[in-house]
Amino acid sequence: EVDWFSLASILFLLMFAPLIVYYFIMSCDQYQCSLIDPLIDLLTGNKHLSDIWNKTPTLTYRAASIYALWVAFQMLLYLFIPDFCHKFLPGYVGGVQEGAVTPAGVVNKYEINGLQAWIITHVLWFANAYYFHWFSPTIIFDNWIPLLWCANVLGYAVSTFAMIKSYFFPTNAEDCKFTGNFFYDYMMGIEFNPRIGKWFDFKLFFNGRPGIVAWTLINLSYAAKQQELYGQVTNSMILVNVLQGIYVLDFFWNEAWYLKTIDICHDHFGWYLGWGDCVWLPYLYTLQGLYLVYHPVQLYTANAIGILMLGLIGYYIFRMTNHQKDLFRRTNGNCKIWGKKPEYIECSYMSVDGSKYYSKLMTSGFWGWARHFNYTGDLMGSLAYCLTCGFEHILPYFYIVYMTILLTHRCIRDEHRCFSKYGKDWKRYTAAVPYRLIPGIF
Ligand code: NDP
Repeated sequence: EVDWFSLASILFLLMFAPLIVYYFIMSCDQYQCSLIDPLIDLLTGNKHLSDIWNKTPTLTYRAASIYALWVAFQMLLYLFIPDFCHKFLPGYVGGVQEGAVTPAGVVNKYEINGLQAWIITHVLWFANAYYFHWFSPTIIFDNWIPLLWCANVLGYAVSTFAMIKSYFFPTNAEDCKFTGNFFYDYMMGIEFNPRIGKWFDFKLFFNGRPGIVAWTLINLSYAAKQQELYGQVTNSMILVNVLQGIYVLDFFWNEAWYLKTIDICHDHFGWYLGWGDCVWLPYLYTLQGLYLVYHPVQLYTANAIGILMLGLIGYYIFRMTNHQKDLFRRTNGNCKIWGKKPEYIECSYMSVDGSKYYSKLMTSGFWGWARHFNYTGDLMGSLAYCLTCGFEHILPYFYIVYMTILLTHRCIRDEHRCFSKYGKDWKRYTAAVPYRLIPGIF
């Protein structure tokens, strides 16, 4: 059932999320990243919406070609180059891996080759920048708004296609979720793991490839633009590139782990993931770098070190918490967490076909400190990215605000789901670990 609040939020997002992205990017393009000045101009009648719109770059043939080439190249890397990284990188899990059991009892196989795609893409990027010079490394920044239109076309096309597919040729009909509400179904998705053929998995591809591989390239393009405009790259820009680079590389190093996250295990594929991966993620997760092109902040060394430390500690907490759960689940609790056997609560649940399954919820390590301490680490890292930009404008702080809302909402959504899944066992768990994000506070 879809309650009125969820429906209202969905309608709000469907109508306004594309406008929010446009507003942020336009503010940088026309107002030096001020979020207030466009409003003042409009409210005082100094400018009309049409003036702003008329100054906005349109879709160009060049941007469409760049984008088509980019997506086609990522598809090629995803579909046709089986992973070789796991053959020589110790500790890296790549190649064919299994996802979690779906509610209908299906276990999907995935070709994990994201790290390889990331490496090949970046090697080519640097080879071009320093040797071949086929295109300028500022190409992404220089076409940023025309590329936004292309990303939107792909985001809407893929979400609409996924909706149509779920009615006419679903990959696994038993894992489809129809609420009967068109807007909810379009936004949150119907199919669980839509695929074309055996290997083209929509969730894995769209989140990782046009989305996360692009993230570091976009930042590199911003750094190149700073170099072109000011003859140097600021330490803040280097920090953004390094901290977000670690996060992205971590994602690909642990892509097999990603198969066990909420995105893959619980969310259905709709506009939220499809459009979100194509537009929201590459455009709004990279706002700090964009801001720094317009405002090249050079941080005092002490501040830069402080921000670096915050980012690294946040990353450490994020990684270790995720690692502890992964290790615990993989070994079914037969492992050591902080040198000791993990403590846990035994749980049971039923799948849709009525079969009974057993699971364990860990109550030691970081998972004994709070129920989502991984989110806390993620939030510390997110704050570090924003702080690199100083305090002159609020635009770069959008990320921490958004991540706080996203992860708090995710926390509540996940706990609601876990309560429906585990019932009284979940209550025992929340009694043993009473806080969600910050021990003693929330
Ligand atoms: P989690 O990795 O926290 O997974 C939650 C699931 O883990 C629950 O549904 C439950 O699943 C299981 N679980 C919960 N508590 C325990 C426990 N104590 N012991 C063992 N298993 C437990 O959430 P996400 O998948 O949302 O996040 C993965 C990471 O990705 C996080 O670090 C998050 O910060 C990050 N992230 C980043 C985003 C970004 O945009 N940058 C967006 C979203 C996430 P089960 O049903 O199996 O019991």
